[in-house]
Amino acid sequence: MSDGSMKVWFIGAGPGDPELITVKGKNLIEQADAILFTGSLVSETVMLWSKEGCEIADSKGMNLEEINNWLIERAKKKQKVIRLQTGDPGLYGVLVEIIQALDKEGIESAIVPGVSSALAAAAAAQETLTLPEVTQTVILTRVEGRTPMPDGESLEELASHHATLCLFLSITLLHKIEQNLLNAGWSEDAPVVVVHKASWPGEQRIIRGTISTIRQQCKEAGITSQSMIIISPTLGARGFDEIKKSRLYAADFNHKFRIKNKVPRALKKTNSEKHNSDNT
Ligand code: SAH
Repeated sequence: MSDGSMKVWFIGAGPGDPELITVKGKNLIEQADAILFTGSLVSETVMLWSKEGCEIADSKGMNLEEINNWLIERAKKKQKVIRLQTGDPGLYGVLVEIIQALDKEGIESAIVPGVSSALAAAAAAQETLTLPEVTQTVILTRVEGRTPMPDGESLEELASHHATLCLFLSITLLHKIEQNLLNAGWSEDAPVVVVHKASWPGEQRIIRGTISTIRQQCKEAGITSQSMIIISPTLGARGFDEIKKSRLYAADFNHKFRIKNKVPRALKKTNSEKHNSDNT
């Protein structure tokens, strides 16, 4: 089915569980004429939702030019074309590089966000990434491997904030991670959680350890790919003796739907509330 325009949809497939794609993403897949997906982590079950006759290809083994040409060729035929990416398309995928090629051809693009593996890993481990008065910041990053890190973004520098760190593409670099965190002042027994294939039905594995033990644990478990590493002062918060209650739920805190110590009034927004609704 074509909507008459030349367009490519970039859709976040989510972290692996086919049910973690958005409703919008699923609806678009059902209508698509052609889908190019990234092989390694996008569960093939997502393809179950494509219609009969939909052309499906794996971009594993294609270089950027081949990916671009595949999408451009089909978009020019006014087919409904989808580029399906793992997690969210805006994190560690080839997105802008493809959009630039589409721009040159006058082909429109649109992006449907997806559940990133960082969030799926936290959910799998039943951990919160932020906690009042512990950390209010999450850093999504990776360790320098073949891709160089820009100035100011070495793990050691980022870790010095002692905020939550979610590390992509870094499971083979645990030795570096350990050293960088210790250099940044984290203690050896600070907790770390590694989630392998977060949300993948039957394949997810969760390894809990500390900065000094996690490398050996992952080695023993044979975990060498497709893993999210979370290091955070919030880990294990479920077992903390005392948790500061979030200001959002404190009895003396005004919230748009709740006036302190009063029964909630109708959920009708005034203009000033509309403008202030993000200030929680
Ligand atoms: N766009 C993706 C990231 C792609 S980069 C996202 O938003 O999640 C690939 C890296 O993402 C992997 O090396 C791994 O660190 C992480 N990753 C992707 N899917 C994962 C999953 N199901 N479980 C754990 N980590 C995953």
